Amino acid sequence: MSGFTLELTPAHHELVRRAHAFSEDVIRPAAPTYDELQECPWEIVEAAARAGFYNPLFYADLISDPTGLSLPLFLEEIFWGCAGIGLTIVLPALALSALNQAGTPEQIARWAPEMFGSPGDIKLAALAVSEPQGGSDVAKLQTRAVKDGDEWVLDGTKIWIGNGGIADVTIVNAVVDPDLGTKGQAMFVVGKDTPGMEQVRRLDKLGHRASHTAELAFTGCRIPAENLLGGEGKLNHKLEKARRGEGRSAALGTFEQTRPMVAAMALGVARASFEYACDYASRREAFGGPIIENQGVSFPLADLAADIDAARLLCWRASWMAANGVPFHLGEGSMSKLKASEVAVRAAEQAVQVCGGWGYVSDLPVEKWYRDAKLYTIFEGTSEIQRMVIGRTLATEAVKGPQHHQLPGDHGGLSRRFGHGSLARARAGEAFLKLAKNAPHALLELGGRLASPGR
Ligand SMILES: Cc1cc2nc3c(=O)[nH]c(=O)nc-3n(C[C@H](O)[C@H](O)[C@H](O)COP(=O)(O)OP(=O)(O)OC[C@H]3O[C@@H](n4cnc5c(N)ncnc54)[C@H](O)[C@@H]3O)c2cc1C
Repeated sequence: MSGFTLELTPAHHELVRRAHAFSEDVIRPAAPTYDELQECPWEIVEAAARAGFYNPLFYADLISDPTGLSLPLFLEEIFWGCAGIGLTIVLPALALSALNQAGTPEQIARWAPEMFGSPGDIKLAALAVSEPQGGSDVAKLQTRAVKDGDEWVLDGTKIWIGNGGIADVTIVNAVVDPDLGTKGQAMFVVGKDTPGMEQVRRLDKLGHRASHTAELAFTGCRIPAENLLGGEGKLNHKLEKARRGEGRSAALGTFEQTRPMVAAMALGVARASFEYACDYASRREAFGGPIIENQGVSFPLADLAADIDAARLLCWRASWMAANGVPFHLGEGSMSKLKASEVAVRAAEQAVQVCGGWGYVSDLPVEKWYRDAKLYTIFEGTSEIQRMVIGRTLATEAVKGPQHHQLPGDHGGLSRRFGHGSLARARAGEAFLKLAKNAPHALLELGGRLASPGR
């Protein structure tokens, strides 16, 4: 297991530099147009593919970084540019996460390239879980999958599906055994233009308008048996376990992985809003000076500075845990998503407030960020659902102390064993201070080294 670190490597800095440059030069200039048109930003996705940001190997690289930092660093920069365009670029990665979680190696090899395509032949992917009667209570989903010979037949309705109806690959969560709740569900791959799958309507949204979102209907939609992710043997094994009261849901497992990703997206919008507000408040004058000189303006921004950093640290911790297979016993993924999404909403609202009347009209980008930010408290589990996930741990897991108390320690060298506030080091330190006045220089230097763990 790689230890948690905040130290960025040269490769991290290079990734941030490239992603930021793309966001600033390509995404931001296109943001107002696609926000108005409410259409899939094909040309920007194409540019992302040419820049190397839109293919499964790129995400495999980011996900396999043992520090866990590459993925949130990349996402924050892209969503700093525009949340709607960012979501379109990243949606296949969310679907890929479900494919990686539930699919066999052969299925991953078959479908992952189809989710992204290549420059000049861009493809899209979607993950369809939510339904009109409710998205939070995943146990109540009604889309059914029934085996018929060599095929599965899907029937039901999905709603709010990013890239729904225009995706080349749609991963669909459906019920195979209604008595088993979330554990009686499975994931299926539905290819583009499969008869029986149709876009009912494109949805008209408050924000994230550059991302295509739709309602999908499945009516006797037949797909080959091999499109069941994980295969039938694994499904039957899972259902048997579920009947014994064991196992977990594929959809919920995917959300655990993707929540730190959504946290990083929210941080992009939070940072964009915060930076804009600070800059505007430094330049805008009222009553004889820049408005930032008033504590009524600077204090809420100071709170945001601290809260954005706090949310980023939670996000990075959860990403590191996900990268190292450390389970979210205390709902750490949910903590990161909850804090980042709520700070994004506050930062965008504060940016509108700081900009006054200019903040309320589309001349400035802050009104768009205000509309965009709200989604983060809703999708991939609402804020209430994140609190529910964290709340469930309070009676059992949380009483064991924070997660880092439960992780194995390292067994470093002499200074590490004496360091970290051990009793031995405290006593040695006391003795050293008593002797320090009269000790020769060489002894003082040795003592100084021991007193500075990690050097
Ligand atoms: C723009 C957009 C894009 C989306 N993209 C996708 C996508 O690509 N794929 C996909 O599958 N889904 C997607 N979603 C769906 C999203 O995940 C759901 O909207 C979300 O999970 C909430 O479900 P719901 O809207 O049915 O709300 P409901 O479940 O009906 O909840 C309504 C309200 O009740 C609260 N609530 C519910 N239960 C409790 C409880 N026990 N305690 C306290 N409060 C509770 C909720 O927090 C919420 O405030 C998207 C949604 C939007 C808006």
